[in-house]
Amino acid sequence: MVYLDYAATSPLLPEVIEAMHDVEKRLFANASALHTPGHLAMNKIEHARELLAQLINAEPEEIIFTSGASESNNTVIRTFEGCQIETSPLEHHSIIEAARLYRGEKLPKLYSYMLVNNELGEILNLPEIDKDEYSNSELFEKKNDWGKPLVTDQRKAYLHSDLTQALGKIPVDVKVLGLDYATFSAHKIGGPVGVGALYVRKGVPLKPLIVGGNQENKWRGGTYNTVGIVGFGTALERVINEKSWEKYDTEVRTLRETLAKRILAEIPGSSLNTDITPGASLPNILNVSFRAAEGESIQLYLDAEGIVVSTGSACAAGDTKPSHVLMAKTGDAEVAHSSIRFSFGLESTIEDVNRVMKVLPGIVDRLQQISTIDADNSR
Ligand code: PMP
Repeated sequence: MVYLDYAATSPLLPEVIEAMHDVEKRLFANASALHTPGHLAMNKIEHARELLAQLINAEPEEIIFTSGASESNNTVIRTFEGCQIETSPLEHHSIIEAARLYRGEKLPKLYSYMLVNNELGEILNLPEIDKDEYSNSELFEKKNDWGKPLVTDQRKAYLHSDLTQALGKIPVDVKVLGLDYATFSAHKIGGPVGVGALYVRKGVPLKPLIVGGNQENKWRGGTYNTVGIVGFGTALERVINEKSWEKYDTEVRTLRETLAKRILAEIPGSSLNTDITPGASLPNILNVSFRAAEGESIQLYLDAEGIVVSTGSACAAGDTKPSHVLMAKTGDAEVAHSSIRFSFGLESTIEDVNRVMKVLPGIVDRLQQISTIDADNSR
């Protein structure tokens, strides 16, 4: 199989599988328990927390483990229930839908802007936020009933960024980015699905989404997912030890560039939706449109050849509406409907690119032949 859908989810790294098996076999314990296996499990969780904190330049106590990026995003957005919430139009649905549910008129204002878009891979500018003091809000009540510590940083605005796609692919430093909150997910870096994290800068407001447990300093209830968190930690170890962003910037970038150049040269009616100039996008994502060929049909034909790619966002699969990201970017439903996302990982090779280019021109040509739209229009 040629797997080029890493941005949707990445294969578990062999060392992650091993570490998770080891926990399952040898560390069967509730990590909150006071007995020895409980302590051992908690030590492993704390190690993973330290690794993430180290990687993003945060303190371990500023990291909360969650069930994934969707939960992390929902937690931040819901904290600002009734407040002004501004997001970029390119956000993941877990931001867009939560913001739609919870936004109101009050201050403080939350800005939620992803650093990297998952469909295009584009790196976005984070907004400047208003750091003026502001305390007239129930968010800042000293006697809140949803956790600790009390809010010490009372401002007019806060900044959250969904760093799910950025982690491991480009350097990420929450201080340099000036973030108050940041979202992460394990399964985009070779860890398991179902575990993620939320960075919460010390002293900023937070309202737990899940109450009823003392875990994570009461910020997030629920028995610890030790196996998942250890898997996340092991994947983080690889990112840190290999400085994986450097490999993305060299080896993976070259693969993407080769594929982009060959598609443009060999497939009539093709156009890049991702800006591949250095610094404009993640090195591993390439979104392409093929005039007069439907993205989903291309995906299915590629699948039949053992090549796995994605159309727009996999999270919206089954949804026949054009991708909101491509619509926001291009305003052209035709471009959105004919788009394919290739996303590479550290295991990708030039052979993968060659395999794609062996079959893709023929597939697109066949679809263009039966289309009523003239493929040459946009060449
Ligand atoms: N945000 C972004 C930018 C994503 O790419 C994804 C995964 N498609 C998510 C959030 C959701 O992540 P999770 O599966 O961990 O909930």
